[in-house]
Parts: sequence; structure tokens; C-alpha cells
Amino acid sequence: MLYENYQSPWMDEELGMLRDAAGKFFAQEFSPHNDQWIQQGKIDRDAWRQAGDAGLLCAAIPEAYGGGGGDYRHETVIMEEHLRLGITGFGNQVHSAIVAPYLLHYGTEEQKLRWLPGMAKGDIVGAIAMTEPNTGSDLQSIRTTALADGDEYIINGSKTYISNGQHADLVIVVAKTDPSLGAKGISLILVETDNPGFERGRNLKKLGQKAADTSEMFFSDCRVPIGNRLGEAGRGFIQLMQQLPQERLNIAQAAVVQTERALELTVDYVGERQAFGQRILDFQNTRFKLAECKTEALIGRTFVDQCVIKLLAGELDAATASMAKYWCTDKQCQIIDECLQLHGGAGYMDEYEISRMYADARVQKIYGGTNEIMKELIGRSLG
Ligand SMILES: Cc1cc2nc3c(=O)[nH]c(=O)nc-3n(C[C@H](O)[C@H](O)[C@H](O)COP(=O)(O)OP(=O)(O)OC[C@H]3O[C@@H](n4cnc5c(N)ncnc54)[C@H](O)[C@@H]3O)c2cc1C
Repeated sequence: MLYENYQSPWMDEELGMLRDAAGKFFAQEFSPHNDQWIQQGKIDRDAWRQAGDAGLLCAAIPEAYGGGGGDYRHETVIMEEHLRLGITGFGNQVHSAIVAPYLLHYGTEEQKLRWLPGMAKGDIVGAIAMTEPNTGSDLQSIRTTALADGDEYIINGSKTYISNGQHADLVIVVAKTDPSLGAKGISLILVETDNPGFERGRNLKKLGQKAADTSEMFFSDCRVPIGNRLGEAGRGFIQLMQQLPQERLNIAQAAVVQTERALELTVDYVGERQAFGQRILDFQNTRFKLAECKTEALIGRTFVDQCVIKLLAGELDAATASMAKYWCTDKQCQIIDECLQLHGGAGYMDEYEISRMYADARVQKIYGGTNEIMKELIGRSLG
């Protein structure tokens, strides 16, 4: 344990049991395959179904739709357990904590019954496609269109950097149903990937998180029923703004757990390694650096815990979620860099986990809205 005397205030006995079960499942079923998944650039398809069978998908979705009947805390506990084992290729945060909640909050009863049970089983993998080759941060400028033609939409455009892109069976596509209206013309449309107008692009090669599939997607006269729209036409931008605080908190929590993991690995390493007749841990520089890092990790942990409590009460605002996302991911990158330094040359070698953690961390400052955009959002709360 990194902290001797701290427990998240939202934890309870039932969540503790879920944590134990999830930890055992990931250690037994996922960890042995992680190196292979990194080599192949994606996890095995069967891993999704195994996680579904173990009840680890859609944990916060009501049982009536096949989910676990829990809440956001359940998703968090499951995420923490696979990240603690260095499994960063399992895109369950996107699947269970982003895509499924969109369906739950904005879907019709028919849409929920059609897709959520399959998502909870792992038969259907979800993705969300906002980013395009020409625009990411400036979401209002997307060019993908979904134009009504009778009782169908015809979707044209392309998306990129889409998590779960290779595995996805169902994609929430952010598209303009009325391009003349700017942000007010954006809608969210559900597209099944066996649709003839849909084409999956490359599984993009990345600096880190190599077992996470990240893809291009192309839509060419892709016809879907009007009934595949999530909520009202033109509400897409508002729906995204409503859901992004949870997504950003999730990224901040991932940052905190990975920071804690890096510190644990480093404390073990410097406690063993000797130089100049003493442990690396016994140098004052090492102790001071790690003391600073541990303090900042605990500040991050207590902050995200407060955000979880706010989220559960429906009170997590955009600025606070942005603070958590930017600060915790900045700290993750800084602290993992310090941890790598304390490993010396070993820290640069693939066989030491800290090296992979360094590469995996970098994107945390970019996706889910860049940290510069987070500061813009916080800035707007200044008056
Ligand atoms: C591994 C990975 C997974 C991803 N998964 C998904 C996914 O599942 N779905 C999805 O839709 N997208 C996904 N993305 C895309 C990600 O959300 C975008 O890359 C991100 O939002 C930034 O957009 P961009 O790449 O177009 O950068 P740009 O918007 O081109 O930004 C370039 C630089 O300019 C800065 N900048 C832009 N605007 C401003 C401003 N107003 N003020 C100050 N600085 C600014 C940015 O901060 C950045 O530093 C993923 C990306 C990666 C790398």
C-alpha cells in the first residue's frame, strides 16, 4: 500500500469485494496475454466476452438492460484493477463508462434493449467517434454529415484516432444533421459497423498504450434509420458537453492509479538497488523526490475522490472535471518521469514496467480534450 492511512471515502464493503474479484480476474485472465496484445496492437476479441461473463462490463448500467446495476464507483474500481496490472489496452472505459451511459441517458427504450445487453456480454464493443483528420479540439468544425433522406440518414465523412476502432461493433458518430447551424446542427448517430457504408481504417501505430486499438473510420453514403439517432436532432453538442465531465474524471482517476503504481514500483526498485555502498533509497535526493511525488499523488487521489462524490450527486461541473483531468495527467507524466530517472538505465529498458508506463502516460494530456483546452474551460469559470 502506498498510503498507510487513506481510503477513498466512497469505497464500501461491496465495492471491496468487486475490487478483489476484478483484480483476480485480470491477473489470471488478462495479465498472461498482455505482452502478446502489445505485440499485436489489440487485445483478443475473446477477452471482451470473458470480461462480460465475469460481470465486468457495463457495471453501472441497470440490470434490466443486462448491466451490473451499480454506479460510477463500480466502473472506477474495475478500471483501477486492470490499470494497476499495467493492462492499458482494454478499452472498457470507452465501452462501459462512455458509450453505454450515452445509450442509457439519451437512448429510447428500444435502443437500450437493442444494444446494451450485448454490450454487457461483450458481444458488442462500443466506440465514440468525434475526432476527424482536420479537427479535434475544435469539435464544432467537424465535417462529417448525416443528412436526412426519407426515414434514413446518409452519413459521409471520416474519423480518426478512435479508441476500440478495430473491435467496435457499434459507434456513436458525431455528425452534422444540419451543417448550416454550426454546433446546433450536431447530432449523435449510432452506426453498426457491419453497415455496407462503413469502413474501418488502419489500426494506428502509437507511442504507447500499444495494446489499445486506435483507428480511422470512413463513412461513404452510409445509410442508417433515423431511429438510430440518440435523442433529438441538433442536441449532440449539448449531450457531449453533459457527458464529458465524467469522461474527464475517468481519465484523471486513471492518471492517479497509474501514478501510484509507478511510485510503488520505484520504491521497490530503489529499495533493492545499491550504489556507493548504500541503497538508492538512502540518498537524500531519492527520498526527497519520492516524498514530493507521494505527496502530489495523494493530493491527486483526494481531489479525484471529491470529484467522484460530486459526480454521484450530479454536481460535477465542467471546470472542476477539467481541473482534475489537466492536473492529474500533468502530474502523472512528471512523476513517472522522476520514477524512470530513479531507475537509471533500467528505466529505459522495455523489460522494466516503468518504461512502458512512461510511454503509456503521454497521451493522457491529449485525449478527452487536451490539457490546453481544459485550461480554457477552467478559464471560463473565472468570470
Ligand atoms: C490514443 C488516442 C485515443 C483517442 N481516442 C479517441 C476516441 O475514442 N474518440 C475520439 O473522438 N477521439 C479520440 N482521440 C482524439 C483526441 O481526443 C484528440 O486528439 C484531441 O482532442 C486533440 O485533438 P487534435 O488531435 O485534433 O489536436 P488539435 O486540436 O489539432 O490541437 C493541436 C494543439 O493545439 C492546441 N490547441 C487547439 N486549440 C487550442 C486553443 N483553443 N487554445 C490553446 N491551444 C489549443 C492543442 O491543445 C494541441 O496542443 C484519441 C486520441 C488519441 C491520441
